[in-house]
Amino acid sequence: MAKLTIINPATEEIIGELDEDTTSTLQEKYNRAVSAFESWKATQISERIKIVGKFKDLLLANLDSLAEVLTKEVGKPIGQSRNEIRAVTARIDFFLENVSSVLQEETVLRTLGGTEAALEEKISYDPLGVIANISAWNYPYFVGSNVFIPALLTGNTVLYKPSEFASLTGLEIADLFYRAGLPRDVFIPVIGGGRTGAELLKLPVNGVYFTGSVGTGLKIAESLGGRLIRLQMELGGKDPAYVCDDVDIKTAAESLADGAFYNTGQSCCSVERIYVHKSVYGSFMDHFMKTVNSFKLGDPEDASTYIGPVTRSAQILQIKSQIRDAVSKGAKLLTGGDRADRKGFYLEPTVLADVNHSMEVMREESFGPVIGIMQVSSDEEATRLMNETTYGLTAGVYSSNRSRAEKILSKIDAGTVYWNCCDRVSPRLPWTGRKHSGIGSTLSRIGIQAFVQPRAWHLRSPS
Ligand code: NAD
Repeated sequence: MAKLTIINPATEEIIGELDEDTTSTLQEKYNRAVSAFESWKATQISERIKIVGKFKDLLLANLDSLAEVLTKEVGKPIGQSRNEIRAVTARIDFFLENVSSVLQEETVLRTLGGTEAALEEKISYDPLGVIANISAWNYPYFVGSNVFIPALLTGNTVLYKPSEFASLTGLEIADLFYRAGLPRDVFIPVIGGGRTGAELLKLPVNGVYFTGSVGTGLKIAESLGGRLIRLQMELGGKDPAYVCDDVDIKTAAESLADGAFYNTGQSCCSVERIYVHKSVYGSFMDHFMKTVNSFKLGDPEDASTYIGPVTRSAQILQIKSQIRDAVSKGAKLLTGGDRADRKGFYLEPTVLADVNHSMEVMREESFGPVIGIMQVSSDEEATRLMNETTYGLTAGVYSSNRSRAEKILSKIDAGTVYWNCCDRVSPRLPWTGRKHSGIGSTLSRIGIQAFVQPRAWHLRSPS
C-alpha cells in the first residue's frame, strides 16, 4: 500500500503518514456506500438533521484541537483556523434550518374532477445516490461542508476525498460524523492524491462534486466524458476589485489588503487584481502599503501571526515565476518578491504596481500572498479590465455611491459581486462560478437542490 506523507509547511517536518487507497479498497468503499444508500435515504429527515446538528456541536466542542491539526497540516494561522471552524457552523445552521422546506413536496395543480377524473400534479425530490466529493486544502471545512452537509441531509451517501494536503483534517471530520451517530458506510473518507481521485471517479458514482483548480477540473470533465452524471465544479478565480474616486480611501485600502492577504492569499475568492482610479491612486497606495507592512508573517501556531507559509512548496516556484515575469515586463516591486528568510514554505507578502494584462500575475490565478495594482482613468476602463479574464468567481467595487457601483457590477460576468466588501461568502447566497470558475452552485437553497433530483407526479383519479 502506498503511503501519503503529511508535511507541516511551516517547519517542513513530516507529521504523519497515511495509507493511500488502492483500486481494491476504493471498490470496497464504493460497495459499502451503495449498500448504505437505501436505508440512509429512508431515514427520517428529522433523524438526519439530529445527526448533522450533533456533528456541528462536536465541531464547536473540539474547536481548539481541530484548529491545531488544520494549522499544522496546511500552515493556516491559528486564529484563522479557529475562524474557519467557527464560521462553518453558521453554514451548517443554514442547511439545518432550510433542508426540510427545500425537500417539501409541492402540489402545483389540483382539479376537482366532477364529470372528469380529478387531476393532481406534484413535485417531490429524491437523493442522487452515492456521490464523490473531491475537495481542496485551502478551506477544508468550508469547501467540504458546502458539499457533504447538504448531500447527507438530502439522503445521499458520500465518498469524501479530502485534498492530500488536508487529509488529517478529512479524517477528523469523518471521526466527528461517526461520533455524532452517522452510520460509517454513509460517509467514507478516501485517502490519496490526484491518482486516487482519478481512480475514484472511474467508479459508477451518481454525482461528482469537485472543488479545486481549473486544470484538474478540466481533466475531470474529460475523464467523465460519455457518462451522464451530475457534475458540479467550484474552481479558481482571478478576482478583481475597483476603487472609485469617491470612496473613503483608508477603509477601502484596509479592506482590500485583508481581501488579498487573508489565509496567505490562498482563498478562491482572494482579491487578485486591484484597479484604482488615478485621482485617488497615490493616497490608496500609501494606505495599502501601510496595512501590508503591518501584517505579521511568522509561526502559524502563534496567535499574533497573520501571514503563514503557503501550503505547498510548488506554489513558491509558481508565484515567483509570476513575479519575475511581471518585473521583466516593467512592473514595480513595492515589497516582497522572494522567500522569507526562515525555514518553511514562506513567501514575503508581495505588492506589484505598474502592472498590465500582458503579465501572468494579472491573468492567471496566483493563490498566494501577491497582488498586482493598476491605475485606471474611468469606470468604463475598469469594467473592461475586470471582465478581461477567463475566470468569473467574484468582483468588487468600492464607491460611496451604490447606484454607481451597481451599474458597474451588473456589467461584470462573475457569480458573486461585492459593494464595499470582498472575500466574503454567505450561506444564504449561491456560491457559483462563471466561465472557468465553475459549473453549478453550492450554498443557499439552490445549493441544497443541487443534491437531489426532482420527480414529476401526474396523478389522475379513477373516473
Ligand atoms: P487541485 O486541483 O490541485 O486538487 C483538488 C483535488 O483534486 C485534490 O483532492 C486532488 O487530490 C484532486 N485531484 C487532482 N487530480 C485529480 C484527478 N485527475 N482526478 C480527480 N481528482 C484529482 O486543487 P487544490 O490545490 O487542492 O486547491 C486549490 C484550487 O482550488 C485553487 O484553484 C482554488 O481557487 C480552488 N478553490 C476553489 C473554490 C471555490 O469555491 N470556487 C474553493 C476553494 C478552492
